Amino acid sequence: MNAQDTISSSSDPGSSSLDAEPSSFDPGMTLEQAGHIDLHMHSTASDGRLSPQALMTLCHQRGLSCAALTDHDTIDGVEAAAHEARALNMTLVPGVELSTRWQGVGIHVVALWHGPAQAPMMALLERLAQARHDRAVEIAARLEKVGLDHALERAREQSAGARLLGRPDFARALVAAGLVPDMTRAFKRYLGAGKTGDVKVHWPTLEETLESIQKAGGVAVVAHPLRYGLTRRRLGLLLDEFTELGGEGAELISGYQNDDRSRDLASLLARRGLYASLGSDFHYQGGALAPGTLSAVPRSQLVPIWQHPRLIPAFKRS
Ligand code: AMP
Ligand code: MN
Ligand code: MN
Ligand code: MN
Repeated sequence: MNAQDTISSSSDPGSSSLDAEPSSFDPGMTLEQAGHIDLHMHSTASDGRLSPQALMTLCHQRGLSCAALTDHDTIDGVEAAAHEARALNMTLVPGVELSTRWQGVGIHVVALWHGPAQAPMMALLERLAQARHDRAVEIAARLEKVGLDHALERAREQSAGARLLGRPDFARALVAAGLVPDMTRAFKRYLGAGKTGDVKVHWPTLEETLESIQKAGGVAVVAHPLRYGLTRRRLGLLLDEFTELGGEGAELISGYQNDDRSRDLASLLARRGLYASLGSDFHYQGGALAPGTLSAVPRSQLVPIWQHPRLIPAFKRS
């Protein structure tokens, strides 16, 4: 499905959706009007710090009408979030942010869908849970070599055993052990791109991931395309391959990003007929981001992801 094949229906010009109440989500609204939509956020089901319920409450307080919970490699928070969203008269679109690898780079793919997660998605999530476990064992072994003894146990303490282990759990363990002063330094020295704890080999390939999403009836979206440190040429290659493999969308705006780069990204997406999504990538309060905080959306002909035929029912208020 090519985004440019669907005609974007225009919203009623008399009802500006920007200053309306949260109950006014209009599927006809354009990207530029999407002041209360956020389709990329995390909860305590992965490395966010708010419970799914508390996250929905915050979204509601901030005037969002429509949200997607996209925890890393798990949908454990989706049901609770959907329940709370219904109580607050908001729409919660089920989603997940999937870890994949492509040409040696860890690429994140957001999947969005309607209704319960289908078997191929559940199978992929099981595989990712195993991958996260195996990766954690490998990261622990590597961090023990640089002085963090009992690294796996220490990371588990940080996660309280309640979620799949991620690099932030190891980062916190490094801080707690006094090896680094803060999380930023933990990533800079040990866990960030190219460092000893940056282990990607366990992730399913981009191709396998896109196949599972399609079989599950979901829509695949490249998460934060500008945050992989790719050259413009390689980003183009990624988007080409993603599209050829059946991927259908990409995040035009992820949190704060440079306006010139947003404009350029819009043209990269348009050229490939990709639908445009928007999300803050919110993890916790006290940082620069909050639910719904996004840089300006550039003018473009891009079709918003909420107008994707398979997602229209997901965006309808239940
Ligand atoms: P993982 O999914 O286990 O590979 O962990 C990646 C997560 O670590 C990202 O989704 C971010 O939430 C977090 N992260 C990445 N870089 C940093 C950083 N420099 N400081 C703090 N958190 C980070
Ligand atoms: Mn994260
Ligand atoms: Mn990500
Ligand atoms: Mn994210």
